[in-house]
Amino acid sequence: MIAELRERVSCPVLAPEDPGFGEVRAVFNAMHPGDPSLVVSCFGTADVVDAVTFARDNGLAMSVRGGGHSIAGLSASDSCMLIDLAPMHAVQVDAAARLARVQGGAVWADVDRETQAFGLATPGGVVSDTGVAGLTLGGGYGWLRRKYGLAADHLLAAEVVGPDGQVRIASENENTDLLWALRGGGGNFGVVTWFTFALEEVGPTVAFGGTFYPIEEAAQVIRGWRDYVAIAPDEVTATCLTITMPADPELPEAVHNRACVVIGAVYSGGADAGMDILRPLRELGTPLMDMSQPMPFTAVQQGFDAFFPRNTLQAYWKSRYLSSLSDEAIDFVAARALDRPSPFTLVNLFHMGGAIAAVAPDATAFAQRSSPFLLSIDGNWTEPADNDANIAWVRRTFQESANYGDDGVYLNFTGRSEEPPDVAMDSAFGANLRRLAEIKAKYDPTNMFRSNNNITPAPN
Ligand SMILES: Cc1cc2nc3c(=O)[nH]c(=O)nc-3n(C[C@H](O)[C@H](O)[C@H](O)COP(=O)(O)OP(=O)(O)OC[C@H]3O[C@@H](n4cnc5c(N)ncnc54)[C@H](O)[C@@H]3O)c2cc1C
Repeated sequence: MIAELRERVSCPVLAPEDPGFGEVRAVFNAMHPGDPSLVVSCFGTADVVDAVTFARDNGLAMSVRGGGHSIAGLSASDSCMLIDLAPMHAVQVDAAARLARVQGGAVWADVDRETQAFGLATPGGVVSDTGVAGLTLGGGYGWLRRKYGLAADHLLAAEVVGPDGQVRIASENENTDLLWALRGGGGNFGVVTWFTFALEEVGPTVAFGGTFYPIEEAAQVIRGWRDYVAIAPDEVTATCLTITMPADPELPEAVHNRACVVIGAVYSGGADAGMDILRPLRELGTPLMDMSQPMPFTAVQQGFDAFFPRNTLQAYWKSRYLSSLSDEAIDFVAARALDRPSPFTLVNLFHMGGAIAAVAPDATAFAQRSSPFLLSIDGNWTEPADNDANIAWVRRTFQESANYGDDGVYLNFTGRSEEPPDVAMDSAFGANLRRLAEIKAKYDPTNMFRSNNNITPAPN
């Protein structure tokens, strides 16, 4: 059977006994490495067509891997045919038209490198090793989010291989319902082989704020951050995270093995003016380390990469949008940041609003746009023996955070759920879920693409 597929495609098709089988791009979450029965490492759209057709004809379950950063291990299913897009990472920039065409297996580092050669960028994530595909299809927040919105908001068109093996273009002119769904509705509608993004003028140098305060000052620092962002212009995107720093000889000793509350910020405008505007964020407490400076945008995009190596950490994350950030909520976050069970665990507060909120909730599949804050509880640890304790801590922290507001969840920051799937889907998509189910029924009526945050096709 595999021989037939090998004859059709131009790329490697590997079974577990084949050399190189274990060398397919590793996933981030070591807790969900996946155990596929077949890997097709596609070189282009035609290989994807052949792989999907073969899976359909032979009744094989499929899993699609872009960057492999799914926290829930959605691109790492067992006993499936894995469509691995790692070789498909080309990026083509049309600077005059301010467009980038990006293949389905690219990571953000690929995009930033090519677009920044022209002083252009599109909103991505804050770790350059994250896949463009999963992040964009699920929404996508990064350092440009308040000025330019979500990654999905800059998605102008996509080439999609459907379960029938058909290649469709989704754009403002063709299959407009499919484009609407791809802007936040996840990997439910087929394999995206090419994305077309709008580009903005960014950098190449931007103002970056990165100030590390002692964790004991968290309540004071977060209050100051909240008050600052309430009046900050949309050019400012600021995030507050709590993390324990490594004893890296390149870092000042003051932060070695030290739990810190970090204020990270980017100003999307002139770098000099930006440094002035970000200054108050550097004066919220007693800094242990201050990395704030004008910085190449590509360096900002890679600034957090070292904290997230592939196939090293066990990970279980949960997130919750908050409509406000009361003093009580801040005290809760500060207390939880202090009792993290693992030094690799982060408790993050993202400031939203700006361009995100300027798009109507039904204009794209991505519904949650009004909340000014997102709390993300990122449980990361090294030892599988500690799984239960760490997962329990994340769940408890998540449940208790409901006392401070509950505007729904961000599916891209969600580990394997203990809840029935439709609870999370309702929470994420709200009133858009019905239309998504109809579009799913049109493009994937038998739910062949189901290793994702799955939308059940609407009944006929
Ligand atoms: C270290 C780390 C940092 C992160 N930082 C951010 C951040 O700054 N902002 C943010 O918004 N999110 C962030 N995320 C979350 C991230 O957006 C999601 O995990 C996202 O799913 C990752 O995309 P991927 O392509 O790497 O994932 P994969 O694991 O490859 O895939 C995830 C899902 O997308 C589907 N998929 C992948 N490729 C395709 C394709 N070409 N066509 C159709 N479906 C496809 C898969 O089937 C799966 O369901 C981060 C995650 C990690 C682990």
